Amino acid sequence: MTILKLVNRLTQPVKLAVFPSFCQLCGQLLLEPEEKVVCRQCLQKIDIHRGPVCLVCGQFLYHQNKIDSICLECQNSLPPYGLHRSLGPYSGRLKEIIILLKYKGNEPLASSLAEHLYQHFGPQGVLAGIDLIVPVPLHRQKKRQRGFNQAELLARWIARLACCSSSRGVLIKTRNTPTQVSLEAGKRELNLKGAFAVRKRELVMQRVIMLVDDVYTTGSTIKECTLALKKAGAREVRALTLARA
Ligand SMILES: [Zn+2]
Ligand SMILES: [Zn+2]
Repeated sequence: MTILKLVNRLTQPVKLAVFPSFCQLCGQLLLEPEEKVVCRQCLQKIDIHRGPVCLVCGQFLYHQNKIDSICLECQNSLPPYGLHRSLGPYSGRLKEIIILLKYKGNEPLASSLAEHLYQHFGPQGVLAGIDLIVPVPLHRQKKRQRGFNQAELLARWIARLACCSSSRGVLIKTRNTPTQVSLEAGKRELNLKGAFAVRKRELVMQRVIMLVDDVYTTGSTIKECTLALKKAGAREVRALTLARA
């Protein structure tokens, strides 16, 4: 019997005694089998924005009258996507958890974060009528360095929860661009111009697509991906991200 099979046969208390694991944020012992990397309490402390948002770009609005409206930027120039929503600001627990997922290789966190997205946005109808969930791709060189694409993992889990399909080969990044964070806002859009392409047109034609990524900063990545999908014939493109920087 292999070690792995033996471990799988152990009951939860034995597993805990032999291989205890601790929450990477608060240090508490992880007791439940579904708790991975971060404990349930820390996951529940994510600061989800529950106030009004821009109906198009999802920008968090902090005005008094507590109703959703369209922000000034979108009034001046509508983005190519139909709507975008983020769970909350890129700060605090949410930021720490995204860093654990993205840069520390804690892939099991993707399912918990996808569940947050699904539970928060599912009832709002954001996922209604979606034909295909498409992760924002990494250039193959970057993916090789990191070993995985966090957006692909999120897309796969959301698709599973929403009972629709996800496809990671539909959209590809054709150019390995410098990271957006290293550039001034003005140069970000230029940096990504034409950096994405659709490989399987037949999966996109006339479809309603949901793009998924971890962080939305200036929106340039989501906009460029949308333009590539629309050029390939997508009927509508929406986007979901975990956090807005
Ligand atoms: Zn914890
Ligand atoms: Zn807006």
